Amino acid sequence: KLNQHIADIKTEVGVSFEFFPPSTPVMEETLWGSIERLKTLKPKFVSVTYGANSGTRDRTHEIIKDIKAKTGMVAAPHLTCIDASKEELRQIARDYWANDIRSIVALRGDIPEGESKPHMYSTDLVKLLKKEADFDISVAAYPEKHPEASSQQFDLDVLKAKFDAGANRAITQFFFDAETFLRFRDKCVKQGIDGDIVPGILPVSNYKTLVKFAGLTNVNVPDWMHKLYQGTDNDPMTRNLIGASVAMDMVKVLSQEGVKDFHFYTLNRSDLSYAICHSLGLRPE
Ligand code: FAD
Repeated sequence: KLNQHIADIKTEVGVSFEFFPPSTPVMEETLWGSIERLKTLKPKFVSVTYGANSGTRDRTHEIIKDIKAKTGMVAAPHLTCIDASKEELRQIARDYWANDIRSIVALRGDIPEGESKPHMYSTDLVKLLKKEADFDISVAAYPEKHPEASSQQFDLDVLKAKFDAGANRAITQFFFDAETFLRFRDKCVKQGIDGDIVPGILPVSNYKTLVKFAGLTNVNVPDWMHKLYQGTDNDPMTRNLIGASVAMDMVKVLSQEGVKDFHFYTLNRSDLSYAICHSLGLRPE
């Protein structure tokens, strides 16, 4: 089974790609190059993250509308509710709907430093959006538990509530052990969740940054990864190849286990995500 080629295993792979709003003209050019290249793989949707300050937030709205207008792809803005009033959120939702944006990635966002209890959780945002219009909604899921959750069971209860509120799918936090995802998927089924749980794949080219970020998000970086990336601090080419290889191994196992949809944290680059999609059997038109 391990020698079976992924492209022979199944043909119906669906992918989505996540981008973030660029902050310089050079980054903007990189983003558009990546969008154009990844578009050829016919993603189900692409999404754009939503930052913590209002400048980047406006950029999310603009880029989403641009992607839709220029490429015709389904473009899903991320939207966080943590520091917006319900009325502001309703306005944003109405504006998106009026602009033909029908898909939203609904999130709470991180609690700002010094604040304690949030005024809303993502379940409340899903309810608010659904009340406003019949959006297609993705929410977040955490195979290794959200850092604030008291237990994984609590997190699963929350995820079930998000689906009951109207979410169409959950996209997971990234992870590096296929088993972590597969066990989580089993727990979701046991919880009575029948919506799609889409693995979030992060192809790692900057290992040092990953280690910092993984610590903040409660994601385990296995020892074998430390060993793989050892000695590559000044060798981006090798890091890229390792990143692609690690992710290809993982999506192969997931695919063999029946996973059909994959969400890629592209970090606005197309090279690794494109190659991993290729390994999944996807080809440009
Ligand atoms: P929630 O589902 O509200 O859960 C947050 C925490 O609160 C969990 O610990 C949960 O168990 C707990 N909880 C939920 N409901 C209750 C309740 N009723 N009572 C008590 N506790 C409760 N962040 C951004 O700022 N911008 C982005 O664009 C962005 N995109 C993301 C995309 C993906 C795919 C993922 C996985 C994360 C993304 N994030 C983004 C990060 C996300 O905002 C943080 O992880 C945030 O801390 C939690 O968001 P959530 O939607 O999971 O929150």
